[in-house]
Amino acid sequence: MTMLDASHDPMVTSWVPSAQAAGTDFPIQNLPLGVFETADGRVGIGVAIGDQVVDLRVAREAALLGSLPAAIAGALEATTLNAVIALGRPALSAVRQAVQGMLRADTEAGRAAPRVPGLLHPMASLRLRLPVEVGDYTDFYASVDHATNVGSMFRPDNPLLPNYRHVPIGYHGRASSIVPTGTPVHRPMGQVSAKPEGPPTFAPTARLDYELEVGAVIGAGNLLGTPIPLAEAEAHLAGLVLVNDWSARDVQAWEYQPLGPFLAKNFATTISPWLVTLDALAPYRVPARARTADEPAPLPYLTDGRDQTQGGFAITLEVWIRTARMREAGTPAERLSRGSFAQMYWTLGQMLTHHASGGCNLRPGDLIASGTVSGPEQSSRGCLLELTWRGAEPVTFSNGETRAFLADGDEVILRGWCEAPGRVRIGFGDCRGTVVGA
Ligand code: MN
Repeated sequence: MTMLDASHDPMVTSWVPSAQAAGTDFPIQNLPLGVFETADGRVGIGVAIGDQVVDLRVAREAALLGSLPAAIAGALEATTLNAVIALGRPALSAVRQAVQGMLRADTEAGRAAPRVPGLLHPMASLRLRLPVEVGDYTDFYASVDHATNVGSMFRPDNPLLPNYRHVPIGYHGRASSIVPTGTPVHRPMGQVSAKPEGPPTFAPTARLDYELEVGAVIGAGNLLGTPIPLAEAEAHLAGLVLVNDWSARDVQAWEYQPLGPFLAKNFATTISPWLVTLDALAPYRVPARARTADEPAPLPYLTDGRDQTQGGFAITLEVWIRTARMREAGTPAERLSRGSFAQMYWTLGQMLTHHASGGCNLRPGDLIASGTVSGPEQSSRGCLLELTWRGAEPVTFSNGETRAFLADGDEVILRGWCEAPGRVRIGFGDCRGTVVGA
């Protein structure tokens, strides 16, 4: 795992004024990577700083990145992050150091950079694309509170299945329908049935839901047939994004047995635009969720000392909603929930190691999502299925509107950030999508 270094120093400031703005997701201690498209159609790799984006091609041409090795500099010429993250964690650390040097107020590069034309683009002027081309997408189910809540709706006397505390549960998802933040989400048609025994009809889903998740992006891959020991798992993680695993609950209820989620979850998955690196997240590491006395220890291949003491991430996660009526009235979004990624039952390292334990090869750009992040409190439930208890207890907004599930025109906004004593707050940027009628 990453050690803290000068790049995390809270006293370092940038010549970009908005990097010091209160509440910004992107101070100079964060420096996440993404892919932007300008109004005139140029696509490139950038780094978020305050409300601006550094154009890394311009930075390189102006010799502001110092002596980055040619392989790394070349990879930064691409239009996705796959090539640079494939080089592994040390390459991302080198990029972080070089970019921070250029953005600091007190360095030679930092004194030259403000005079370079075109180095910064206002973030609001850009279209932010997917940061990586996702080859394979896997979704886990790593919140025991989520699993217990959902299980108790369907099996009140047996909410948590016996395998849960031994094996990280997941399913193989669909990469083709992963979309960048801001992409409209079309309400899907699907087979739904009022009764468990059928017959079904083919109709627009009436139970459209979001799922608040964190996604880990694979950097360096592993060869087919070569498992990844837990002690080495994080060397294969490039960074994290926010994930909204949009779900059609009525379709899911009819189709999920016996093989699990299928069309109920493959119509859209939204991810946030900035890859927040594991280096940037180093100050916010916390222990893995402790097992209680009546919970089994993980099997040896899922046990590692450092993973136990530092395998968690203290990321505060929120879901906000802005309905069409709120938008028309000019009133702001309202918060639906707030939870923490520190409460997950399995660490990302355990999920990755389990995924590769049978020899499955993971490739640069693969996305491993955590599953819905819920905590023990009602206010920390990460989807409407749980918040409204399958629709039985709708939520009410300050304008009097209620929701059991999502309505057309609803915009769902996921937010995530990290704070720690003596450290600068960093965030992920919004992961948002608006529901469009079928
Ligand atoms: Mn999910």
